[in-house]
Amino acid sequence: MSSSYAPPSRKQNPHLPFGDQRTAPWYGKDILSVRQFNRNDLEYVFGVAHEMREMVERVGTFDLLKGKILANVFYEPSTRTSASFTAAMERLGGSVIPINEVRYSSVAKGESLPDTIRSLECYADVVVLRHPEVGASALAADYAKKPIINAGDGVGEHPTQALLDLFTISEELGRIDGLTVTMVGDLKHGRTVHSLARLLSLFQVRLNYVAPDILRMPKEIIGELEERAMPQEEHELLDKVIGDTDVLYVTRVQKERFQDPANYDKVQGSYTITSDVMKRAKDRMIVMHPLPRVGEISMDVDPDPRAAYFRQMEYGLYVRMALLAMVLGKA
Ligand code: ASP
Repeated sequence: MSSSYAPPSRKQNPHLPFGDQRTAPWYGKDILSVRQFNRNDLEYVFGVAHEMREMVERVGTFDLLKGKILANVFYEPSTRTSASFTAAMERLGGSVIPINEVRYSSVAKGESLPDTIRSLECYADVVVLRHPEVGASALAADYAKKPIINAGDGVGEHPTQALLDLFTISEELGRIDGLTVTMVGDLKHGRTVHSLARLLSLFQVRLNYVAPDILRMPKEIIGELEERAMPQEEHELLDKVIGDTDVLYVTRVQKERFQDPANYDKVQGSYTITSDVMKRAKDRMIVMHPLPRVGEISMDVDPDPRAAYFRQMEYGLYVRMALLAMVLGKA
């Protein structure tokens, strides 16, 4: 996504009745990039996510979005993002049009993204979109009248993942300011770390990037954060920083983004978090991963109470419920 990105304007939904929905701050908005959020917005999202958690624990499913329909459109594979948006919509009493296999939809016949989106929004109130191209959600949002939620645009951004990641950090460690966050693995292609690094720049956080040379954090993101005076360090060895780390954010080497498979073979397995590595980490810290993992965290770490990656997925349900309720004017 280009640096000239500007938050989209509020969209009007002619199907919604008058009333307090129109004054809800996120009503009708697209969620395309973490750049749309400031600290007040994050507090708001997390406040709503807390309410969602309480309701799910108390009653399981409730009728906040009864009668609303989500089109869940995935042009790239997904397990958690797709399933958690479905679960979020259903827990809120709404329903879902799942388009997971675009090869079985008219996309396989050559339909353009704007046409697919303009068709689906005739049936749905909100569209969640994952697409392999950077900027695809912004393009869809230009054409759509209904809110578009970016569920990953190629190597660009994954804003809802970053929001749930930040919520996880805040819930697990009780604060964000003052922490040292170490991101490890494929920082070049990992859209989740691109979004998370940007969000963390709203806080007093130190960032360490640990990656092989060919998978370093993109210069544009480092530059963007430098302008906000964010302390950032790049390392090739995890050993240098593991002892000072409060949040170890591990990522998968994204095989599907490599043009030359030989390069993938060179870097796959560069870092593996094992229970031995965890011996050098603080007692109070967390290990996160957006999942899927393909060997970067060995299964012997799973029983360690510091392993937060499955709890992270549960926090994601509450954050995605909050976002759906917000853009549909119910929060
Ligand atoms: N599930 C995350 C994403 O869609 C991380 C990954 O695929 O490695 O970006």
